[in-house]
Amino acid sequence: MDFEHSERAQHVIAQMERFMAEQVLPNEQTYYDQLANSSDFRQWRIPPVMEELKAKAKVAGLWNLFLPESEYGPGLDNRDYAPLAEITGRCAIAPEVFNCSAPDTGNMEVLVRYGTPEQRARWLEPLLAGEIRSGFGMTEPAVASSDATNMKATCEIQGDEVVINGLKWWTSGAGDPRCKILIFMGVTDAGANPHQRHSMVLVPIDAPGVKILRMLPVLNALDEPHGHGEVLFENVRVPRSHIILGPGRGFEIAQGRLGPGRIHHCMRLIGAAERALQRLCERGLGRVAFGKRLVELGSNGDIIANARLAIDQARLLTMRAAWALDKHGTFGALNDISAIKVVAPNVLQWVVDAAIQIHGGEGVADPELMRLLGMARALRLADGPDEVHRRQLTKRELGKYLRR
Ligand SMILES: Cc1cc2nc3c(=O)[nH]c(=O)nc-3n(C[C@H](O)[C@H](O)[C@H](O)COP(=O)(O)OP(=O)(O)OC[C@H]3O[C@@H](n4cnc5c(N)ncnc54)[C@H](O)[C@@H]3O)c2cc1C
Repeated sequence: MDFEHSERAQHVIAQMERFMAEQVLPNEQTYYDQLANSSDFRQWRIPPVMEELKAKAKVAGLWNLFLPESEYGPGLDNRDYAPLAEITGRCAIAPEVFNCSAPDTGNMEVLVRYGTPEQRARWLEPLLAGEIRSGFGMTEPAVASSDATNMKATCEIQGDEVVINGLKWWTSGAGDPRCKILIFMGVTDAGANPHQRHSMVLVPIDAPGVKILRMLPVLNALDEPHGHGEVLFENVRVPRSHIILGPGRGFEIAQGRLGPGRIHHCMRLIGAAERALQRLCERGLGRVAFGKRLVELGSNGDIIANARLAIDQARLLTMRAAWALDKHGTFGALNDISAIKVVAPNVLQWVVDAAIQIHGGEGVADPELMRLLGMARALRLADGPDEVHRRQLTKRELGKYLRR
């Protein structure tokens, strides 16, 4: 196993560190100051500083770094992308600055790998340019969606059209005023075997019959200006050519989409955990109780050491998953992806919790620590709950002995 970053990646890492220090971090507070806080998602606007930062990142070539295909960016593999995603994970606004944020990255991967030339021209090009954003509508309120074969919404083929009906929720990004396209997953053939029943269809968000009902809060935060939408589809008609890859091939695409996407999240979570540990250390060094600095009291020193151990272990596991993905593809890396998908959010959750604790009462009022906590908690559910990934690992472990 070789975790050495290529020369090209080392150059991009240095460039990115500089860009973060000079452009992104000094503008983070400006972004939040420019956010018009509104509980009504229809009022949401994009802070102008975001588009300014995106334009600068694009000029600097720090753009679409997540795609291994060299025709769309620097052409870095997952191993080389991991440290870059980690850097963006230290700051909530950074992934978007570099056009590397979910769910667009997963949706772009789908269009690059499975889209027709027409689908790519209409949707991939503006996504790659950072002109529009997108959503992914799979999860439904009525069924346990951690088992994707449960999905009940329909996309019925009628002649040259597809007729879409159903209620989706947790469609991340649906509240973003720039969101123009959703990838919808629904049943095309209820009689087929469970993994060939579903299709993925491109649905313009302004198509007649698409109704965004509300944004769901994550630990009471609406995550504006992107949001997580509950979206009703009522007799929505799109041309049959909007089906991706072909009818009944939704699962095939879902596996491909969630492989790299899952570890991109994990890479960013490592950066987020580093940020939480930095906050913990700074607070512990800067405050005194009972005549000593907080870091010198009780087991606070051990907590810092344990956080370092946990983060470094998670990073190594992430690198192994990235390496396996590059070497063996999504299907050859499933166990490694599941392993890090369990470990990374739990490590972040634990480190943020420790950072909150050392901040005392201020900890639960600190916007950054709350954002990091929300991120960790949500990612123990999104892209498959912990238990579903543990199940994958258990199966492999028991398989070693059952085969004997
Ligand atoms: C912030 C956020 C963003 C999201 N973004 C998107 C998005 O953009 N698009 C999208 O389609 N979805 C999205 N999701 C939805 C997410 O993927 C689902 O919530 C997740 O797959 C679980 O589905 P469910 O909520 O229906 O829970 P259920 O399937 O009802 O599961 C509930 C619980 O049951 C338990 N459980 C389930 N299976 C097992 C098992 N095998 N063994 C033991 N226990 C088990 C687990 O504790 C699990 O948490 C998002 C979710 C969140 C929180």
